[in-house]
Amino acid sequence: MKAILFHQHGGPEVLQYADFPTPEPGAGQVLVRLRAAALNRLDLWVRQGSPGIRLELPHIPGADGAGEVARLGEGVMEFAVGDRVVINPNLGCGRCDDCLAGKDNLCRTWQLLGETVRGTYAEYVAVPTANLLRLPDGFDYHAAAAAALVFETAWHSLITRAKLQAGETVLIVGASGGVNTASIQIAKLAGARVLVVGSSPAKVALAQSLGADVVIDRSKEANWSKAAFEATGRRGTDVVVDNVGAGTMPMSLRAARRGGRILTVGNTGGPTFEIDNRFIFGKHLSILGSSMGTRTDFARVMGLVFEGRLRPVLDRQFALQEAAAAQARLAAGDQMGKITLAI
Ligand code: ZN
Repeated sequence: MKAILFHQHGGPEVLQYADFPTPEPGAGQVLVRLRAAALNRLDLWVRQGSPGIRLELPHIPGADGAGEVARLGEGVMEFAVGDRVVINPNLGCGRCDDCLAGKDNLCRTWQLLGETVRGTYAEYVAVPTANLLRLPDGFDYHAAAAAALVFETAWHSLITRAKLQAGETVLIVGASGGVNTASIQIAKLAGARVLVVGSSPAKVALAQSLGADVVIDRSKEANWSKAAFEATGRRGTDVVVDNVGAGTMPMSLRAARRGGRILTVGNTGGPTFEIDNRFIFGKHLSILGSSMGTRTDFARVMGLVFEGRLRPVLDRQFALQEAAAAQARLAAGDQMGKITLAI
């Protein structure tokens, strides 16, 4: 098969479009002929390499993908060749206490497709059937691939972890990334009042088009936590979604109300930062971290995506061969929504 792979860590130039053996589906797995893959920031970190993660090289990046079932592994009854599917990239073991309790993203041997195992920037990938959902007739492969990881992640954080309630206020720091555009829509669907901080007029306009009630353009309003505080009648917000981290978390702590929850699923701005602990105890704040989501989260949120009640925002499509250019666009941060690869 054709795939994008790299033999050593580095910049976009290490990505090669090359031949690689087509994977064999094991027992309980199917081989998926991929039609679309979606990029995630994680792909950049995996390509660059990080201490503690050792990959079997060459590595194929990519967590998100959608396509058709091409071959069945031993014992597979629930899918047939030709079924159109989208992949849940969370690979829990399926046997440990956490997996059996439905908390598969806590699995001790948890792996993510494309991070520590070869992923979806390829014509084929073999995945367990438990990681597949059937697509409704006519549902676009690119929209499915673009939704999977980010909607699952945002749903797990807002709904499963934070138990967001109708009538609560949510401040989302960041307007245009995949998880943030998903979070805006999920918070609105849950009945929350949504405030969004964006870094440019175009990005806040996107947030507004997704249903944000209040938008704050931080290119004009540097003290955005004060603006958010004023917009809530000087009460502060019930929930703050901060997946930026360095540079924003101190202001996120300020923007939360007493007793508020701070949610984080990542740190696009950097992982280490100083915070003033007096905000945490003095304001009775809860910091709720999570990573990805569970199979139940995936099925629930993708059901809403299939119904059209949540919609992934699609930026640009690139051909599989153009993965390096696609990653460069993601790294530059100018995208509005998800970048996908046509395979
Ligand atoms: Zn497990």
